[in-house]
Amino acid sequence: MPRFDHNNLFIRYILDADMNQNIEVLKGEQCPLCHKNTLTLTEYATEVPHFGIVHVFGMDCENKECNYHLQDIEPETAGKATKYTIEISSEEDMKIRVVKSSKAVVKIPHVTTIEPGPASSGYITNIEGILNRVKVQIEKARDTEEDNAIKKKAKALLKKLQKVMWGQDKLKIIIEDPTGNSAIVAEKVEKK
Ligand SMILES: [Zn+2]
Repeated sequence: MPRFDHNNLFIRYILDADMNQNIEVLKGEQCPLCHKNTLTLTEYATEVPHFGIVHVFGMDCENKECNYHLQDIEPETAGKATKYTIEISSEEDMKIRVVKSSKAVVKIPHVTTIEPGPASSGYITNIEGILNRVKVQIEKARDTEEDNAIKKKAKALLKKLQKVMWGQDKLKIIIEDPTGNSAIVAEKVEKK
């Protein structure tokens, strides 16, 4: 069964579907949040085509009152600080692979910026996965904002995102990572 949590949504689903190697599991570690010995550490390696092997590390607390979860990724061949820029222009582009570490900043000009923080996760996804995360954020703003101007802007952004996902509009996505552990895996990507 795929696992979901507020921070990872469908990302785990993609990972679970991809997983073709053994997971190493270490149970009974101390949880950094509730300090009980209920933390399970997991590690596995997965291959991202045209990129390489990526190690995925997970921390999950089994104490149901705690539910601490954190995940990060690390490519086998870590690079230097990188900036990837891509223009999304077709439905086909939704499948482009994205490797995002917990230290990455994801910028979508005129839409949003996803900053790394202590609770941010690293994951392997695709452009559609990134856009879906952004969509969830904007939907939240649309549904909870009191300010009508912000509500209106959120609605317009959601419309734009939907068009991009259908390949009817263009969108620029930038991923910056000081650790060099992130990547957008496509021929048309601009790497700096
Ligand atoms: Zn815990």
